Amino acid sequence: MNIIILGAPGSGKGTQAAMISRKHELAHISTGDLLREAVAEGTELGKQVESILRSGKLVSDEVVLQLIREATSKSTKGNRRGWILDGYPRTVAQAESLETVLEEIGQKVDSVIVLDVNPDVIVERLSNRRTCESCKAVYNLLNNPPRYEGKCDICGHALIQREDDKANTIRKRLDVYNDRTRPIIHFYDGRYRIHRIDGTQPIDEVSAAIARLVSE
Ligand code: ADP
Ligand code: AMP
Repeated sequence: MNIIILGAPGSGKGTQAAMISRKHELAHISTGDLLREAVAEGTELGKQVESILRSGKLVSDEVVLQLIREATSKSTKGNRRGWILDGYPRTVAQAESLETVLEEIGQKVDSVIVLDVNPDVIVERLSNRRTCESCKAVYNLLNNPPRYEGKCDICGHALIQREDDKANTIRKRLDVYNDRTRPIIHFYDGRYRIHRIDGTQPIDEVSAAIARLVSE
């Protein structure tokens, strides 16, 4: 099963993708996580993209396409039964490239999920998001806090605030989403069945709604 999850930054894509990937044994492919990993490791790619990530702009389509090529091909190895893409595609050009890559490697998209959340909720969520520096688990100080302040429930490592989760950058990222990413929904309309879900519901209700759709 291959799933694309779309939605504004902070709509809950990463949270839901982690839950779905565990439940259905799918590879969770997050281009944001892959890019942040490159920055943390100080690789050539990391140096190239660091300031772009901090600014809230998009990395070039070519760079992320390379990451996606590697990750989707790898996902068929081991016991993964498909993938869930989180944060990709982010432009119509990326959606077009994805079609080509999938054709080349003989894979297809089964479901497109869109999480709808309004901008005020997004700003509040992202300002309070904390991420585990090690296992990347995602928390929220207001509605999904860790058991012990500043520590990951899963691996015990420190929780950090992402550089791009500061108020000004959040607004910038919302603009980028509206201008560059939202048109993908139109691109997919008619090509795939699009499942729109009210992402303002509590985490478990969103995941129950996704589970119903995925099993249809
Ligand atoms: P995205 O991957 O789309 O940027 P995240 O999954 O990282 O979004 O979620 C953003 C923030 O909102 C996190 O702090 C997360 O804990 C919180 N969150 C995610 N889903 C919900 C939800 N349904 N209700 C309330 N908070 C949520
Ligand atoms: P995310 O973790 O999905 O919120 O992504 C964090 C940042 O990584 C974005 O603001 C972009 O700078 C970059 N990024 C992640 N995915 C993509 C993508 N598909 N295309 C371009 N840039 C991306």
